[in-house]
Amino acid sequence: MGLLSLGTPLDWHDSKKYNDHVRENGITQLINIFKQHGPTRTNDTFLWGDEVEYMLVTIDDEKKWARLTIDKDHILDDLNDPQKSLHKSVDNNVLFHPEYGRFMIEATPAKPYNGNSLADYVYVEENMIKRRIVSQSELPSNIKPITLTTFPRMGCNIFTSPSAKPIGPASQSLFLPDEIINRHVRFPTLTANIRKRRGCKVAINLPMYPDINTKLLDDSIPKSRDLFKSDHEPFIGASKPGHVYMDSMGFGMGSSCLQITMQGKNIEEARYLYDSLAAITAIMLSLSAAAPIFKGFLVNQDVRWNVVSGAVDDRTFIERNIEPYPNYNLFGGLNVDLHSKLPSKTQSINEFGDLNGVFTKEGKPIQRVPKSRYDSIDSYLADVNFSTNYFKDEYNDINPPINEKVFNRLSSKENHHLFDKYLAKHFGHLFIRDPLVLFSERINQDNELENDHFENIQSTNWQTLRFKPPALYTPEELDFSKTPGWRVEFRPMEIQLTDFENAAYSNFISLLSKAIIKFKPNFYIPISKIELNMKLAHNVDSVLDEKFWFKALDQWNLNNNDFIGYDLSWFDRFIYEGNDELGKEGEVYMNGTITPTSNTIESITDVDDGGITQKYSINEIINGTDKFPGLIRLVIKVIATDLLPTDQSHHCDSEELARKLITIKHYLLLISNRANGKIPTIAHWLRSKVLQSHLYKQDSKVSEELNYNLIKDCVEVTDLSDKYLLEGLFGEVITDYLLTSNRTTTLS
Ligand code: ADP
Ligand code: MG
Ligand code: MG
Ligand code: MG
Ligand code: MG
Ligand code: MG
Repeated sequence: MGLLSLGTPLDWHDSKKYNDHVRENGITQLINIFKQHGPTRTNDTFLWGDEVEYMLVTIDDEKKWARLTIDKDHILDDLNDPQKSLHKSVDNNVLFHPEYGRFMIEATPAKPYNGNSLADYVYVEENMIKRRIVSQSELPSNIKPITLTTFPRMGCNIFTSPSAKPIGPASQSLFLPDEIINRHVRFPTLTANIRKRRGCKVAINLPMYPDINTKLLDDSIPKSRDLFKSDHEPFIGASKPGHVYMDSMGFGMGSSCLQITMQGKNIEEARYLYDSLAAITAIMLSLSAAAPIFKGFLVNQDVRWNVVSGAVDDRTFIERNIEPYPNYNLFGGLNVDLHSKLPSKTQSINEFGDLNGVFTKEGKPIQRVPKSRYDSIDSYLADVNFSTNYFKDEYNDINPPINEKVFNRLSSKENHHLFDKYLAKHFGHLFIRDPLVLFSERINQDNELENDHFENIQSTNWQTLRFKPPALYTPEELDFSKTPGWRVEFRPMEIQLTDFENAAYSNFISLLSKAIIKFKPNFYIPISKIELNMKLAHNVDSVLDEKFWFKALDQWNLNNNDFIGYDLSWFDRFIYEGNDELGKEGEVYMNGTITPTSNTIESITDVDDGGITQKYSINEIINGTDKFPGLIRLVIKVIATDLLPTDQSHHCDSEELARKLITIKHYLLLISNRANGKIPTIAHWLRSKVLQSHLYKQDSKVSEELNYNLIKDCVEVTDLSDKYLLEGLFGEVITDYLLTSNRTTTLS
């Protein structure tokens, strides 16, 4: 979330007049960014940082309820107020950001980590612990900042503290009060403008988890409310039988995720990293699954992704290529000259995805838009100018709609030295979207110095990856060593309950990225396969039950022998072998060592692409096989080759280094054990808790008291305070480690 501009946000019907203005100036700003940073910025450090999103939950132990706290959002101002607690944040290198929900906060390190420093990887968890302590210090003890992907009873009767009624005009939701939305005007405006552009409320339908007493009908939909015209939408097509129906942005943007941003050395390295991580996105969504309950129902899926996707889906009926509800406008909130030919279902489209002959009054072509603004990426950036040069045109096999004007401008004679056709396609696709919120004071900007119009479109394209260009600077400010460069953001992961897990997943992605940059594997597969993987990743227990498309293991372009020995046992050998001092402890840790169990690859070859793509279990992809390294060995090898102090690069002889490596080993053990099924995902753990509870009536419903029990368990796991609960989630080895290592930290 960028800085929030102050001012007057325009209602959709006023703001849409400026859509092309924002896009045109945004592209001018982008071109200026490329001129300022493109060819000359060649040697940035591998810096990185995480973002963690929290929900503030009030717990009442007497009445046995847990609810989302919507009256403590001032803590964010206090945490950033120089007169109040800013010093605490600054001194501890933590930074707090607003998020969509009034019950949410986001926190990051104030300064990014150095990806070339082993100490910084280990420091991540300490930083995360500090964020919790600092935010908790502003809250009463019955309110906890918890990192749960979705609040199980969001949208059920009373689920907020204090209570509030779902009667708000911004969302018009039948379930969510507007009081859950961040007070800053940007957020209610965003909510309303998505609805206005779309021409109806958003509609998300998740399949119910079918249990023996489940009534396959969402009985929480009020039948007789008559407050807004939209109240009857569930009865004219918005809600589907057998599904949990959700009608508001908050169901998606009110969920929490874990994001990682990494800086490439230059734009070419960042493009290769972006492309390489594309294949990893769905794998990590599955491996981090943490959201089996929505609106008080167990659902038949494990993750938040399609919910957020539906929650911000501002596409009109015609863009989605579906019949409008009776008496609703096919063109939603777009101004369309109805004298232009009315399109049919099978209307022909041109190469940019435009419907031939159908335009808005401002002259913009109307397009079919297959995906929401929040969805998986649509094209590779291509590593054509990088040493690897693996990319082939056939990998971009899903023809997304493109803004032709933007594409042509970026590919023009004047600009094509900065934007090859892949970059022009990438930004041309992002710029098919309209701005959702525009502030009247920010309509006119200095395109040499400001980039808000570019960011307006860029930051409301919420995709699995984000390619983040630098900002614009004055000549005095422009110092490549002090200003962010070309970055890649990894966005699919669900948030985990403990700082240990969030540090583990963050480390895994940043270390894997470092390994990718060093060893240069080829992970390109047709992008349509990644879309299939995203769908698979939603399924219950997909991490164990599904196989995912991936680059065939023998096509990674690595010398597999180089990675022999770099499995998890490497840590023990490196730390303890020939080391009497540390040896004793070593035996304990050796017990916790796993080697990959899967030796046979039951892969399915895809006949279409000459066998470069096959289907693998996540265990094979992460832990490798007897012949192929898997992702974990890449990570361990990059630690061994690039992150050890030179005087100890062959032999560990300090306790401090041993401690750091043991920490990282357990991060990787967590990832490894979730991939091979020795321990459950959070989603599996939560679902089992519901199914096994004496309060559960086999009807897929999560009552208020059951929700309370779940939240209490989550808090105890977060605080590492209950050995029995921890063993259920992490197994004995990791639990022993967590409870015997010192994980407390004190504030500066
Ligand atoms: P957004 O919400 O737009 O993704 P945030 O500021 O919330 O952005 O988070 C960005 C993350 O990127 C933070 O963890 C921050 O520490 C990290 N970061 C900041 N500067 C750099 C940089 N130069 N390279 C890599 N990461 C960076
Ligand atoms: Mg966020
Ligand atoms: Mg952020
Ligand atoms: Mg953000
Ligand atoms: Mg979010
Ligand atoms: Mg982010």
